[in-house]
Amino acid sequence: MHNDDWLDRTRASVWHPCTQMKHLEQTPPLPIARGEGAWLIDHDGRRYLDAISSWWVNLFGHANPRINAAIIDQLGRIEHVMLAGCTHAPVVELSERLVRLSGLGHAFYASDGASATEIALKMSFHYWRNHGRPLKTGYVSLQHGYHGETLGALSVTDVALFKDVYAPLLRHSSQVISPDWRLASADESAEAYAKRAVGRMEDHLAEHADTTAAVIIEPLVQGAAGMAMYPPSYLTELRVLCDKYQVHLIADEIAVGFGRTGTLFACEQAEILPDFLCLSKGITGGYLPLSCVLTRDEIYAAFYADATARGFLHSHSYTGNPLACRAALAVLDIFESDDVLRRNRAKATRFNELLAPISSHPRVRHMRQTGMIWAFDVIDVEPGFGARFHQQALARGLFIRPIGNTVYFMPPYIIEEAEMRFMSEVTLDLLQGMQGFEP
Ligand SMILES: *Cc1c(COP(=O)(O)O)cnc(C)c1O
Repeated sequence: MHNDDWLDRTRASVWHPCTQMKHLEQTPPLPIARGEGAWLIDHDGRRYLDAISSWWVNLFGHANPRINAAIIDQLGRIEHVMLAGCTHAPVVELSERLVRLSGLGHAFYASDGASATEIALKMSFHYWRNHGRPLKTGYVSLQHGYHGETLGALSVTDVALFKDVYAPLLRHSSQVISPDWRLASADESAEAYAKRAVGRMEDHLAEHADTTAAVIIEPLVQGAAGMAMYPPSYLTELRVLCDKYQVHLIADEIAVGFGRTGTLFACEQAEILPDFLCLSKGITGGYLPLSCVLTRDEIYAAFYADATARGFLHSHSYTGNPLACRAALAVLDIFESDDVLRRNRAKATRFNELLAPISSHPRVRHMRQTGMIWAFDVIDVEPGFGARFHQQALARGLFIRPIGNTVYFMPPYIIEEAEMRFMSEVTLDLLQGMQGFEP
């Protein structure tokens, strides 16, 4: 079967996520037959470089032999068993390793990022309730923050396109200015602006701490906001504020965890421990749905009692799925055996060099990089820029999806020099060819 056969059938039967289906008449989805390292291959044999890691999940390439082998081995043992009332080696081993790596206590599992957000929000509220503080029911998040799209997660998300329609269904939450350094005034450093943003958070907490359970943030990089970046000092000071006002700090590292920002977890760069750490996306190397919430021991202890209702009575059918846990264990093995974080630093340095002609392009602003995430904004774009840029890049064999006027790269860590060169050359060509561009 060829691409076109699959396109007809997908239009007729699949309701695609985050998509106005009518737009598929003009911009069909890519019918992917297989993957190989950083490449996606369609049914007509065309190859596309997966420069955004299949929506930020893939770390070590498609069809990675080591992750494949781990899942196949687990398939021959036990594919799934419920985790309420049972346990199994993959979930125990994964929890032990995540606890050691994060410095936190127990690990609670679900399948998607949004579910991890829901769990952290519920646990935080329930902790305060178990502590005789039932009025602490509110949440604070950052402007343009993204934490998922189920109702609870959407309530703390601040992306108008995803949120406005559903506003009548959502709980109120408060948003405080983002430390995104692009918002600094002309004469203000990123650090100085981050300090000003912390000040605004303190103003809010000083007034509302009695009714606030938690602050939820994306550490260092706000992904869906368009890869908004900010310095670790914001997190260090936010930790101090949360302690001072007795409010939990939920670190949503669903996108930035597992090495994306240069350290295994982004919070390490601020030398802080959150109260809740939400993980998903890269946790299985982009193989299987798995998410996890790690908490401090003191939070766990607040639920530990004779009374059933003091416990955290939350579950999903596939909580702690053994296949997903084995994929995650294989991912952690690769981090250790291949010295991934150090090698990524060298790759990042090289890609920064390759991007220099783009940084200095007259239509480009705010070139930025944190770990294995790169982004820049294109000025004076016409409406529909993102979709057009996406299509033009596809025609050249590059799979990228701008967010608004922000073009970003979030490649798998196995990306090689020639592939980095390809990403930067195609992108520069597309910028040069943009309509209305006068050099
Ligand atoms: C993707 C993402 C989520 C939601 O994860 P899903 O698996 O898509 O539900 C939550 N928070 C952040 C920061 C994300 O990037």
